[in-house]
Amino acid sequence: MRYPSVSLHRQSNILLIRSFMLLFLSCVTIRIKLCFSSIPYTLKALPLDGHFNFDEVHLSAKDFGNRYQFLPVAVLHPKSVSDIATTIEHIWQMGPHSELTVAARGHGHSLQGQSQAHGGIVINMQSLRGPYMQVYPGNSPYVDVSGGELWINILHESLKFGLAPKSWTDYLHLTVGGTLSNAGISGQAFRHGPQISNVHQLEVVTGKGEVVTCSEKQNSDLFHGVLGGLGQFGIITRARILLEPAPDMVKWIRVLYSDFSTFARDQEKLISAAENTFDYIEGFVIINRTGLLNNWRSSFNPQDPVQASQFKSDGRTLFCLELAKYFHLDETDVVNQVRHALAHHQGRFPKEIENYMSQLSYITSTLFLSEVTYIEFLDRVHVSEVILRSKGLWEVPHPWLNLFIPKSKIQDFADEVFGKILKETSNGPILIYPVNKSKWNNRTSAVIPEEDIFYLVAFLTSAVPSSTGTDGLEHILTQNKKILEFCETAHLGVKQYLPHYTTQEEWRAHYGPRWEVFVKRKSAYDPLAVLAPGQRIFHKAITFS
Ligand code: FAD
Repeated sequence: MRYPSVSLHRQSNILLIRSFMLLFLSCVTIRIKLCFSSIPYTLKALPLDGHFNFDEVHLSAKDFGNRYQFLPVAVLHPKSVSDIATTIEHIWQMGPHSELTVAARGHGHSLQGQSQAHGGIVINMQSLRGPYMQVYPGNSPYVDVSGGELWINILHESLKFGLAPKSWTDYLHLTVGGTLSNAGISGQAFRHGPQISNVHQLEVVTGKGEVVTCSEKQNSDLFHGVLGGLGQFGIITRARILLEPAPDMVKWIRVLYSDFSTFARDQEKLISAAENTFDYIEGFVIINRTGLLNNWRSSFNPQDPVQASQFKSDGRTLFCLELAKYFHLDETDVVNQVRHALAHHQGRFPKEIENYMSQLSYITSTLFLSEVTYIEFLDRVHVSEVILRSKGLWEVPHPWLNLFIPKSKIQDFADEVFGKILKETSNGPILIYPVNKSKWNNRTSAVIPEEDIFYLVAFLTSAVPSSTGTDGLEHILTQNKKILEFCETAHLGVKQYLPHYTTQEEWRAHYGPRWEVFVKRKSAYDPLAVLAPGQRIFHKAITFS
């Protein structure tokens, strides 16, 4: 009997190994293909009131920031909370073998892909309309709304009862779930706290597909975790929001300062006053020039005394204090006084406002005054949106940078940033205003500086597409980087609002001592890291077995 030669033996071994490898590789490929191609089929089989869309997914790979695009495999248009729970439970059941993740998309006004899900499922929260908004008037009024509801719709509905939410964002075409996942701040926050301080109860679908009702008293860890939780612990499907009697009209005031410390001192005086001075306190910085996008809040249309309209900024860095006082139309006395004030050049106010204004140290010839309805005031940014859209300037890249800066460091920040790093106001406003930490609940997931008073400084820049100049994306990103580097090296104790980081080390530093609680909550409510992958805090661990 002849035995095969050694070389023949080796050849057949090689062949065997090769075919084994081919078989292995094709198995892996088939498995991966099966894994991907079978996803839509298993999803298609789910019993839903709404539906999945597997074709028109491109819109969900876009956001307001206009810089990041991650295509999902499917978009869920839920008609009920159970649609969301069924979908997430299905993914939970698939376990770590599936790489499917889920992003709730409010109105997609994120800046760096936070409401997107690469190869995952995007839930279009605005489809979830039912049960419809329900206002409960009474001694402690509130409204129950869907997590996908826009704040502008809540305003219109609650006004039918003479009521309105207490705390706002500057722009109302954002969803409840989207702003509650961050904080939701505006000029009312100094008094009422952010929007996350004005919620009584939430209904949440966790990363395991459980539907949980939570509040300060019931499942409070989940309640606090979800508020400011960047979508990490559950999808907000319903929220109970506190209301207050709504005013009819607003006196809207702007005054200018050329000295930052005087401006900041006045802002802090106003937010710390024991009595109710103004209902809204913000401010912004004007550096060197004003372009079209700086008139972003162009709904402000002052009926100025002659002196103020003739004020010229002459390229100086100026700080504008923006104030609002609400009033009811039946307060005819007040109205008459305001009319009187508007009609006269010296800008006289009703007594109480005159009193507050007399304690401020603005440049006296720079008092700008306007009177608008409450809706006009709250929805002011939408006016600018319409104008910018008509000029094709809304859907441009928005390399925004939002920072919380401790009061003790705001002067250092201003000295370095306004005029040195930023030599001119770029396209878009730079907001700056202080808030009181006592109005924030430290059990929520929102991250803020340690001090009792801290400032929001928001660089709300729009980049001009294809520009390589100072209004181009690259230039603005470089400026943002310089600002962040300065904060870091000067140890200002700054925290990012609407934070964006790319590594877990950076997230750990962002949360500081609260990181441990954050991780613990993640493992309790979304152990597979299915939710909000676009925040890039946790990554779903996949096992191929
Ligand atoms: P999305 O961008 O769709 O979602 C934001 C994050 O929340 C994502 O991670 C998403 O997955 C998650 N999410 C969305 N819905 C839910 C839900 N139901 N449950 C759980 N997680 C969810 N912010 C302020 O605080 N104050 C302001 O004055 C302010 N002004 C703004 C003005 C403009 C023009 C824009 C574009 C933004 C402004 N923002 C402001 C920022 C805003 O709060 C955030 O962009 C926020 O993301 C809200 O947008 P959205 O509803 O479109 O949510």
